[in-house]
Amino acid sequence: MARTHILGFPRIGAQRELKFAQEAFWRGEIDEAALREVGANLRRRHWQAQQAAGLDYVTVGDFAWYDQTLTLSATLGALPARFGFDARALQLQQYFELARGNAAQPAMEMTKWFDTNYHYLVPELGPQTQFDGGVNWILDEVDEARALGYRPKPVILGPLSYLWLSKCPGAPAAFDRLSLLPRLVAAYRSLLAALRQRGVEWVQIDEPALCLDLPANWLAAYQPAYEELADAGVKLLLATYFDTAANHALLACQLPVQGFHIDLVRTPQQLDAWLAALPGDAVLSAGAIDGRNIWRNDLRVTLATLQPLHARLGDRLWIAPSCSLQHVPVSLEGEGKLDPEIRSWLAFATEKLCEVSTLAQGLNEGEAAITASLQASDAAQSSRRQSGRVTHELVQRRLRQVTPEMAQRHSPFVHRIAVQREALQLPPLPTTTIGSFPQTAGIRQLRARHKRGELSALDYLTAIRSEIELAVRKQEALDIDVLVHGEAERNDMVEYFGEQLWGYAFTENGWVQSYGSRCVKPPIIYGDVFRPEAMTVETTRYAQSLTSKLMKGMLTGPVTMLQWSFVRDDQPRETTALQLALAIRDEVADLEKAGIRIIQIDEPAFREGLPLRQADWPRYLDWAVRAFQISAACVRDDTQIHTHMCYSEFNDILPSIAAMDADVITIETSRSAMELLDGFGEFRYPNEIGPGVYDIHSPRVPGVDAMLKLLERACDVIPPERLWVNPDCGLKTRGWPETEAALGNMVQAAQRMRERLAR
Ligand code: GLN
Ligand code: ZN
Repeated sequence: MARTHILGFPRIGAQRELKFAQEAFWRGEIDEAALREVGANLRRRHWQAQQAAGLDYVTVGDFAWYDQTLTLSATLGALPARFGFDARALQLQQYFELARGNAAQPAMEMTKWFDTNYHYLVPELGPQTQFDGGVNWILDEVDEARALGYRPKPVILGPLSYLWLSKCPGAPAAFDRLSLLPRLVAAYRSLLAALRQRGVEWVQIDEPALCLDLPANWLAAYQPAYEELADAGVKLLLATYFDTAANHALLACQLPVQGFHIDLVRTPQQLDAWLAALPGDAVLSAGAIDGRNIWRNDLRVTLATLQPLHARLGDRLWIAPSCSLQHVPVSLEGEGKLDPEIRSWLAFATEKLCEVSTLAQGLNEGEAAITASLQASDAAQSSRRQSGRVTHELVQRRLRQVTPEMAQRHSPFVHRIAVQREALQLPPLPTTTIGSFPQTAGIRQLRARHKRGELSALDYLTAIRSEIELAVRKQEALDIDVLVHGEAERNDMVEYFGEQLWGYAFTENGWVQSYGSRCVKPPIIYGDVFRPEAMTVETTRYAQSLTSKLMKGMLTGPVTMLQWSFVRDDQPRETTALQLALAIRDEVADLEKAGIRIIQIDEPAFREGLPLRQADWPRYLDWAVRAFQISAACVRDDTQIHTHMCYSEFNDILPSIAAMDADVITIETSRSAMELLDGFGEFRYPNEIGPGVYDIHSPRVPGVDAMLKLLERACDVIPPERLWVNPDCGLKTRGWPETEAALGNMVQAAQRMRERLAR
């Protein structure tokens, strides 16, 4: 009998119950008991769903009050000493302080979980870290599941992945965190022993680091570490996901563990390597259902690939989603407004549970036992394949007409910039902002009332226009050189455009946890993307009409549109990126026609699209750069293209950033004290740059001198004639008073620097 399980379930709840309870607790509106009650209910409901679907195990340990990596740190007793907390007696209040900071200490660092949009709290370790035990929450949860009559399979992040994802701030440079492994493994041993005492048979131990380019000494550390865990008395299922671990199949299969989970959705081709290496008594958990995307599985096709595997492995085959389901929304149930045809193509976490168990039933009892499910699956697949909404001849024709020249500006940058300087007549070190101005409560209310039908389209438009006028007047008063309209009409930089494009669908409750209590609702790209009409031209033209200064048009780039959506799985990502690029390109052309001289195409998600393995980078960079170029390169030489990226780690992809060939790039630099600029300086980045001179994430108003210092540093590495002056990112999360004060100082800093340069 093939067994069934999942690697994890979304913890936030179908109605974001956890988010609202967390936030109420932070505001002091509910006490710890009430918060715990919400968590317990969610766990119970999610186990119940797994049981109801017929899975053989319920997964425990995927729940966390904020983040599962932070919970593991608290479990192991590896909390940053600077907080002074006792891990064994940790209160929820303190747990949240680790994640969010408190009056005395900044929060632990948070960063992206592999190539997902989820953020985990980076374990903060050092030579002194003892790992001598902490909270017992996972044990309590195992008890809880048992008491409810379920068979729990706990999941924990494995020791090498945990250590790999950790950092040792403040440790001596010579300190190698791998030296912590023996102590860490001892803590894992105790944890596994405690789980065994609670009657646990299998533990899923996640080692996604095996899918990265790990150094040889880290790879070599697997064997001794897992030898130490071998006699803990529980069976270990070593799980990898998000990419192939085929190159380490031999190594993994020599570890004293009892089973392996692999991601057969992302990299089905790794199967053979694993089958060749798999010990005769080991379990193979086939990650056959996409845990990262929202498409309904083609059960007939998947069953056909699993049948030979089942014939070969029999009871040793387990069926699962490719990775934890935390990366997809909870349930389709709340999606009554979604077009029924599109809805029939989808499966969220709850629906995927049934897919897993149906596949196992088809294997265990034969195809005939799941005839109805197979027929329903076939119907959904053929509806999706044949639907007139998916493929548009118009878009297909345009794709066929794409030429290499479409990715090239007419003239090289040196020529363009001369014409642009002549045409734009900007002062040296021109000042600008990244696009958005404060999204005030007033603006959010306007949108909500308009959505509810309480505010007519005309009244809404008028109100938004007065917000735009306000932003323009304030920028004029501040004497900023290149103005923006402020994005008052946009709820979100992807949704706003997606709503105006063909091929996009939006959910009502399709929330996915991004970090802590923060959730995002990625739109779904289901069909060929096409721009039926101009999206921003009227707004931008209106904004330009208010001022004699230059108004910058503001668009979201194709890679970011792709990266922050659920994307089609029936064509390569790069094809979807190209369709998006053509849509943006049309908008760029229309903005230019409407007299807009500067157009910014934001690509904040460009870097996060990078594949996990460096060997796969060139291919991604190739199509991603081309998509950006195609979106931008239709303009005349004297139209200036800006782009914006808000992160500080791209020294390793600078050649690609340069190849995008934006005339101006604005980047995040103030938090890293402009370290990043060194990379730009060394590489001799050829075009113009606006290094952010102040951090918009903090309400603190930076002084003129601080910004001047950053500008001086910038002038050291970049020729001043190629420098712009701007904040790090958009200002939508800020209030007006601090925004005006900070921008006022920024303009003064630019002024002072200009005077110095003139001397
Ligand atoms: N133009 C956008 C804004 O200013 C850019 C946002 C971003 O970089 N994430 O809000
Ligand atoms: Zn930004």
